[in-house]
Amino acid sequence: MEKQEELQQRKLGKGRLLLFPLPFQGHINPMLQLANILHSKGFNITIIHTSFNSPNISSYPHFTFENISEDSPTGCTDLLGNVNNIILLVKLINEVCFDPFRDCVKKLISNSSAEDPIRCLISDALLYFTQAVADLVKLPRIVLRTSSLFSFHVFHSLPLLLQKGYLSMEDSESETPVLEVPPLKIKDVLLTFKNGGEAQSEMLSKIISETKEASGIIWNSFQELEQSILPTIQQEFPIPNFTIGPFHKYFTASASSLLAQDQTALSWLDMQAPLSVLYVSFGSIAAIDKTEFFEMAWGLANSKQKFLWVVRPGVIRGSEWLEPFPAGLLDAVSERGHIVKWAPQQEVLAHPATACFWSHCGWNSTLESICEGVPMICSPSFGDQLTNARYVEAVWKVGLVLENGIKREEITKAIRRVMIDQEGKEMKMRMSCLKEKVNFCLTKGGSSNKSLDSLVSFILTF
Ligand code: UDP
Repeated sequence: MEKQEELQQRKLGKGRLLLFPLPFQGHINPMLQLANILHSKGFNITIIHTSFNSPNISSYPHFTFENISEDSPTGCTDLLGNVNNIILLVKLINEVCFDPFRDCVKKLISNSSAEDPIRCLISDALLYFTQAVADLVKLPRIVLRTSSLFSFHVFHSLPLLLQKGYLSMEDSESETPVLEVPPLKIKDVLLTFKNGGEAQSEMLSKIISETKEASGIIWNSFQELEQSILPTIQQEFPIPNFTIGPFHKYFTASASSLLAQDQTALSWLDMQAPLSVLYVSFGSIAAIDKTEFFEMAWGLANSKQKFLWVVRPGVIRGSEWLEPFPAGLLDAVSERGHIVKWAPQQEVLAHPATACFWSHCGWNSTLESICEGVPMICSPSFGDQLTNARYVEAVWKVGLVLENGIKREEITKAIRRVMIDQEGKEMKMRMSCLKEKVNFCLTKGGSSNKSLDSLVSFILTF
């Protein structure tokens, strides 16, 4: 009898989950990976999404999709590339999505059946308005935090940092350590918070308070990577915390890529010697100005190393793509490098030719580099990138930060330090240790594997 019930249960699945990603590449990827992970555990999946940056539905025939058809947050794409605009955009998304999202969830609940009950909502931490909707329709909400535990701790610490006066400190003190959030320096805190002003503190305060109201938090991180900060997080967010990452080790990010990934990146890497190539990419949102772009190009050319460079259309402020490149410099760069608009990043990092990753230190990029054992050069510009970069350099000691912005001499020196010097070999060894820890945490009985089992049991209590 028991067996028959079990069989029946397996046929029906464990119920349905509603997942709602923030519509940015670095947030869509982990949410859709999480959807695949939970689907593989027997849950049915409905992805609720915006019209803005809507996901690639054809890659997920096993999911149901619901477009909330929000009124477009005016000129969305023009708002990217600058921290104040990103804050504005996140705020707008939280405002314009409220009504259509609420109506969508209500409709899904009223159409749901006893055989396929909706267990809970899983939404991005930055979609703070979804907590009020979840409360309204009496659906438990679990938050997905797509970045590190440490970065959320730093966000949580903003009121304290403000109270201690760190945000009004002079630039001359920029190298001073901030004892409340080690290993950050004053300049990291200033870059993370100062430009965002009031709007950013208000937004972070909502993100933090609405996360505390949720039933639990899922982290795309793993215990061994952020062991020391875990007890603090558990105190700050006294709800169940599930560290089940890195998600992309279960399912790759390629299926959820919003831009076409140029496969010539891989065929070009196939022609290069092992551990000879620097991979350069600043992710889907960060932008640089023309001067920085020239400095990058000269730094790369002068390093005399091979490089694969993702120049995303729009990454250079005020330019469509490569027009600012003077022809002479383009020739010099082309001798050693290959430029693409968007790459299959995970495969690039896993390629035997890739030796180093010069990154903006978005959390997905950082995790993807760790998982492939590739040391990093860090050029963070806003948000969690500063905290991620400082961990890369000072805690895991698997890379270095370009401390003075993007300057050609410093770039060339950094490339040599990581790709040629003994220092770089030591970084590579430490990265390889982290890579082993990743593999271990995902195996049966490993920390992420156990945490995922707890998450599944937790969801089944709803
Ligand atoms: N990515 C990619 N191709 C590229 C550059 C990035 O597929 O050429 C992917 C990368 O693998 C990662 C995501 O885009 O999963 C970027 O997320 P991240 O958190 O690193 O940065 P963000 O774009 O959010 O700043």
